[in-house]
Order: sequence, then C-alpha cells, then structure tokens
Amino acid sequence: MLKKELEYYKKKLLDEKKKMLSDVHQLGKMSLNETTREGSGNLSSYVTHPADVATDNYEQEKNLDFMDNIELLLEEVENALKKIDDKTYGKCELCKKPIVPKRLKVEPYARLCMDCKKVEEGSRRK
Ligand SMILES: [Zn+2]
Repeated sequence: MLKKELEYYKKKLLDEKKKMLSDVHQLGKMSLNETTREGSGNLSSYVTHPADVATDNYEQEKNLDFMDNIELLLEEVENALKKIDDKTYGKCELCKKPIVPKRLKVEPYARLCMDCKKVEEGSRRK
C-alpha cells in the first residue's frame, strides 16, 4: 500500500478513535448522572412507577452493550494503527490478500477480506 494511502487510513482511524473515546466519555457522564439521581431520588417513585424502572434498566443495559462494543472496536482500531506502523495494514489476516479499499473506507479497522469474513461468520454461527 502506498504511503499516501496509509496516511489516509491512519487519519481515518485516529478520527474513529477520537469519536469512540468521546462517545465513551459521554456515556460515562450519563451513567454518573444516573447514579447521582438514584442516590438522591426517593424510593417511593420506583414503587409507584414500575414501568419507568424497566425503561431505565433497559436503557442502562443498552448503554452497557454499546460500551462493550466500543471497547472492542477501540481494540480493533488500536490493532489497525499498529499494523500501519508494521506496514502490514490492508492485508487480510487469514489469506494475506489485500483488503479492497471499498471495504477499508467503510471499516478502516477491518482485519479480514470479505471472503474470509464470510467464512469466519459462518463458522461462528455453527
Ligand atoms: Zn482473506
């Protein structure tokens, strides 16, 4: 891959990372507010509005899933950045063929080409 291209993806990855970190930050702030509110809120409101509690739990769970996802994605981004330094970026980790730029533009942290990804996803479903 050309140096120019590597620079392009590196910038893209760093942008992604920045975005993810700010998302994590935002969510962190949100759950902090949540805790404060629960700590100072009176217990009776939870008893009288069971539906609200359910929604809160659901929201929290959703946020936790989201956090898990972001952490995984952050790892992928870090991994991709390392590969840029190693000059192995843009190659499929399984078949070593170059990953198509179209795919890298959408998912700059992709480790596998489309073919290998399909195989991997297929084997995971079994
Ligand atoms: Zn492959």
